[in-house]
Amino acid sequence: MVQTATAPSSAPTIRQTQLLIDNQWVDPVEGGSFETYNPATGEVIATVAAATSADVDKAVKSARKALEKGPWSNMSASERGRLMNKLADLVERNALELATLESFNCGKTISDSKGDLAGVVKTLRYYAGWADKVEGRTIPVDGNFLSYTLRQPVGVVGQIIPWNFPLLMLAWKWGPALACGNTIVMKPAEQTPLTALRVAELAVEAGFPAGVINILNGFGETAGAALVNHPDVDKIAFTGHVDTAKIIQRQAAETLKRTTFELGGKSPNVIFADADLEQAVAGAFHAIYFHGGQCCTAGSRLFVEDRIHQEFVERLAEKAKARNIGDPLNPSTEQGPQVSQEQLDKILHYVDLGKSQGAKLLTGGERFGDKGYFIEPTIFDNVQDDMAIAKDEIFGPVVSVLPFKGVEEVIERANNTSYGLAAAIWTKNIDKAHLFAKSVKAGTVWVNCYHIVDANTPFGGFKMSGQGRENGEAAIEHYTELKTVTVKLG
Ligand code: ADP
Repeated sequence: MVQTATAPSSAPTIRQTQLLIDNQWVDPVEGGSFETYNPATGEVIATVAAATSADVDKAVKSARKALEKGPWSNMSASERGRLMNKLADLVERNALELATLESFNCGKTISDSKGDLAGVVKTLRYYAGWADKVEGRTIPVDGNFLSYTLRQPVGVVGQIIPWNFPLLMLAWKWGPALACGNTIVMKPAEQTPLTALRVAELAVEAGFPAGVINILNGFGETAGAALVNHPDVDKIAFTGHVDTAKIIQRQAAETLKRTTFELGGKSPNVIFADADLEQAVAGAFHAIYFHGGQCCTAGSRLFVEDRIHQEFVERLAEKAKARNIGDPLNPSTEQGPQVSQEQLDKILHYVDLGKSQGAKLLTGGERFGDKGYFIEPTIFDNVQDDMAIAKDEIFGPVVSVLPFKGVEEVIERANNTSYGLAAAIWTKNIDKAHLFAKSVKAGTVWVNCYHIVDANTPFGGFKMSGQGRENGEAAIEHYTELKTVTVKLG
């Protein structure tokens, strides 16, 4: 592993730390705040306003008013689309500033943050295009009646997002919600509160009316829970940990809110001996180490066919050892820090478990440097399916290599998990590829590629990896209520 130097660039300007309610920047009712960190140094970079239930209540009232009365409720669908495109333009114009702030607060490399910003702009434009294409149908019913359906907004939507892709998750949630005419109260993750505030400023500048977009930073157990429990919130869209989703689903049951969940994974990445080895090694490396493994789709169970197993892991380890780790703002850095001390400790705990349960540590396994939350890219070989490192989502740069012999065996083992978010296969054999794609229980399957995600394609999980789908047309269904209208003719 190679240490990259500190980037010459200075810290980005932090323009906003208050709450956005009703298009006003305000202090929280109870005056609370929390500190946010630069994970590359562990230093505090800002003190941010923390919302509690009183602020949630104010924001929900504003969102309700915007939904029922005023300019947003009367706005034509194409005008909504125009506003969304305007926001996309503003985000694009400020992309470098936003990417720098994202890397500074979240620890992802500047090149990854720039990639995320491109995804944000694409998502906003994609859903801007949907705004005037959300259509109902006419239905040929019995009798002298005209029946048709309308797709109307679900209403006030509470959106709770995590820290690993703060801006991209914001866009995935705002895009379909706004296209369908909903109003939003968003709670970003407490680890990464800053970039959402900057985009919210741009939304005000774009001209979104008061109450359409409200941003409340704060903690999950207070601000997040208040949003989930609020009787006037119609839907919760959540991305985060499966245990949090269980709490949310229980609490949301009280008011029968609509819920959509995008949760974790333990995705199988399967390499057959007939794959292009060069590409498969690079693909497996990217699958696990992209954003330091802090990705719900990370290819953390790496199944490698027996015949190529030795050569494959040697090549993978060589790449891991050559990884540039360091300041995320330095353009030559390939891996930044993990997001927090808590995550670093959790990952190191799993490394200990891997060792004590008998897996072979090929490379890595240690904290990197003595400042910030860096960890070496880590490979465990000869992992057994029942070891903790093969079962639990680690959310770090730790891959479990699991040798296998045949296609049927590997499909069964790939499916032997409570998760079902993503899966990949590397092979030149079209039969194997399609058999795997059909048989694996996962919301996304990649063939000879990994981490290809687009605003246009549905994304979500089977089993405990989620409920509902984001992106594509699928998300439109989750942000609308379907109404049937029947008219007596004559
Ligand atoms: P992670 O492990 O990625 O931090 P979490 O599920 O803890 O996942 O956090 C994802 C988001 O959920 C964050 O915005 C967090 O504040 C929020 N959150 C955590 N606990 C709750 C809760 N009980 N109710 C609502 N939101 C919560």
